[in-house]
Amino acid sequence: MKVLFVTSEAAPFIKTGGLADVSFALPKALHDKGVDVRIIMPKYEDISYDFTSKTTQLATFGVSVGWRNQYCGLQYLSYDGLPVYFVDNEYYFKRHGCYGYFDDGERFAYFCRAVMESVKYMDDFYPDVIHCNDWQTGMIPLYLSDFYKGNPEFANAKSVFTIHNLKYQGRFSRSVIEELLGIGEEYFNEEKIKYYDGISFMKAGIVYADKVTTVSKTYAKEIQMPYYGEGLDGLLRQKSGKLAGVINGIDYSVYDPKKDKNLIANYGLSTVKNKMLNKEELQKIAGFPINPDVPVISMITRLVSQKGIDLVAAVIEDILKMDVQLIVLGTGDHDYQDFFEYYASSYPGKIASFIKFDDALASKIYAGSDMFLMPSLFEPCGLSQIIAMSYGTLPIVRETGGLSDTVIPYNEFTGEGNGFSFTNYNAHDMLNVIEYAVNCFKDKKNWAKLVKNAMRTKFEWKTQAGEYLKIYNEILEA
Ligand code: ADP
Repeated sequence: MKVLFVTSEAAPFIKTGGLADVSFALPKALHDKGVDVRIIMPKYEDISYDFTSKTTQLATFGVSVGWRNQYCGLQYLSYDGLPVYFVDNEYYFKRHGCYGYFDDGERFAYFCRAVMESVKYMDDFYPDVIHCNDWQTGMIPLYLSDFYKGNPEFANAKSVFTIHNLKYQGRFSRSVIEELLGIGEEYFNEEKIKYYDGISFMKAGIVYADKVTTVSKTYAKEIQMPYYGEGLDGLLRQKSGKLAGVINGIDYSVYDPKKDKNLIANYGLSTVKNKMLNKEELQKIAGFPINPDVPVISMITRLVSQKGIDLVAAVIEDILKMDVQLIVLGTGDHDYQDFFEYYASSYPGKIASFIKFDDALASKIYAGSDMFLMPSLFEPCGLSQIIAMSYGTLPIVRETGGLSDTVIPYNEFTGEGNGFSFTNYNAHDMLNVIEYAVNCFKDKKNWAKLVKNAMRTKFEWKTQAGEYLKIYNEILEA
């Protein structure tokens, strides 16, 4: 089986969120199952020279973007046993970060077309499956279905489109059809890619892919309802026959407190007392009084409304009245950044905020905290709560999407559970559950059991890759 895995970000090359983790860990797990899987992604400026200096140039060719012909360099790197292709065009990708530019529509229209044109330079690699991820790759299933099927390298290819977050849809004006996509006005049609007055890359992926997946079973159901459907719930209900949910895993060779080099003391199930040393270290870093009896609650997150920051803001004073210490690591909306900076400066010793993206600090926080707060408004899968569990840090989550599918709320009668949860998007419901968790924390013996429950919870990519393999086989046999 040959799979071309198309993504706009992949760790360790570049990461803005969970998509990057998935985009390396899933191909790696497929590779371990004997699949010939290759990643293709843009070559951004921020990809470290350590990687880019090791690439080889395979080909240069032109890619049409509407009426223009743009340069494309196809570069190759073998990393950790996986073949990775980089699409090189400095005009589009020699910029800081991945997204958020005025011409993102053009950049990713180019990328989709460049991927299709690249395959013939891949040394007889004729993909069986092109696995596309999120709106940035949404035009590929359309190109495959309507324009490239006749090319020998695509004769047997099928497409999978995975929605990692339905909120970001790649919506642009109607003029994009002629100017950037070059596919003809007939595509401005409700059955095709028209979305209100413009067009949507996400819709193209959903309409044209042979199979649509999303990253948890609950989110697959939720997005068929208006509350979570971001305007596409009707389409998703119509296409529900080809929609499936597959929960993400995490790479336990990366997120392993036994091996994590960022920790002052490593620990596992039998050496869990060393977690305390990490807590002490974290309290120092945060400028908190060092006290093992005060629970440390953390958040590591993009600071956007999706993550439930509004709930935290609504009851922050009440949280700070409890005997807890709160740590926030994140970047995002300026209002939220300012909010945490303000409280951190007003209540030093109670709350610390780190407004940056920092992998090493993230590890220290996962390991040094007692609880991990993630009260999301919606959450397609969420990796942070799974990572937190791996480090024996109990998640406190709202029951939505992947949070519902991964966190089992503590049941004091049976002793079962690996975290805490609440149902409604309501600040006081969240506050009650935080209070409950803080109370549970006082019973040291029982808490130690909960920590172990969390550490034993595993969402292995090995298992999840098997689910994707089933999906690939199902569409290839259809
Ligand atoms: P999303 O993809 O919606 O951002 P996920 O929970 O799926 O959320 O994945 C977030 C990933 O990004 C996790 O690996 C988390 O640890 C990491 N992360 C988020 N913010 C930061 C940050 N400021 N510094 C370091 N890592 C971060």
